[in-house]
Amino acid sequence: MDAIITIHDLSKVYRVGHEKVRALSHINLQIGRGEICCILGTSGSGKSTLLNQLAGLEKPTSGSVRIGKTNISRLSEDQLAGFRQRNIGFVFQSYNLIASMSALENVAMPLLFRGMPRMVRDREAAQMLKKVGLGNRINHKPSEMSGGQQQRVGIARALAASPDILLMDEPASALDPISTTKIEDLIYELKKEYTIVIVTHNMQQAARVSDRTAFFYLGELIEYDDTQKIFVSPTKEATQNYVTGRFG
Ligand code: ADP
Ligand code: MG
Repeated sequence: MDAIITIHDLSKVYRVGHEKVRALSHINLQIGRGEICCILGTSGSGKSTLLNQLAGLEKPTSGSVRIGKTNISRLSEDQLAGFRQRNIGFVFQSYNLIASMSALENVAMPLLFRGMPRMVRDREAAQMLKKVGLGNRINHKPSEMSGGQQQRVGIARALAASPDILLMDEPASALDPISTTKIEDLIYELKKEYTIVIVTHNMQQAARVSDRTAFFYLGELIEYDDTQKIFVSPTKEATQNYVTGRFG
């Protein structure tokens, strides 16, 4: 496997007052280039913490994250910001669009940070919006679009700066089934060009879109395998219980 993401013995402990919360415990995980990997697990199992680690948004307590050949845990804040801009697109559960801006302006934002001239920015942003099926909504503000459309703007914005990796945190959890299907179809389309990591607690979604599934429980990686295997014949009891709906 040509691994584009390598997580080595990663732990993350948060301090809240005098208490310690162990959000991730000694995680080892490799994600192959061009794969769709689902991070699956109940609420509080450490999925978002892991995704934030992959994006370099938080420092690990111990262990490392390598993206390609770069150990991002060793980069300075400035280096990390640049690295993230060039290599990683991030899609938020709650869209995080700027309300006063049009779809086009939202998508063009990351290109502004790269110092691209206005004309080029707008052309690229319009192309991205077309790619996510919103070529006819470029002048709409977030409040003038459905949740599913807003999330597709979020995806277009994540892709604007041509990253290799697309990270998505529960991208469809606030959406109705039809909008969810559209997002899943889009994700499948994007697989040709990007490595994609999706966090979800929705096992049907994991089963539908991903090649590989990593099942997390209470900060531990319980099982990581081909999605088919995880759902048809998991080796761990906790995985079995989750995929058969006995808890979740
Ligand atoms: P998930 O995304 O799977 O629902 P999270 O990664 O958000 O889970 O959280 C994992 C654990 O870490 C939870 O117990 C949560 O309360 C805790 N946690 C997450 N973020 C923080 C934080 N910034 N400070 C303190 N504790 C946190
Ligand atoms: Mg989460």
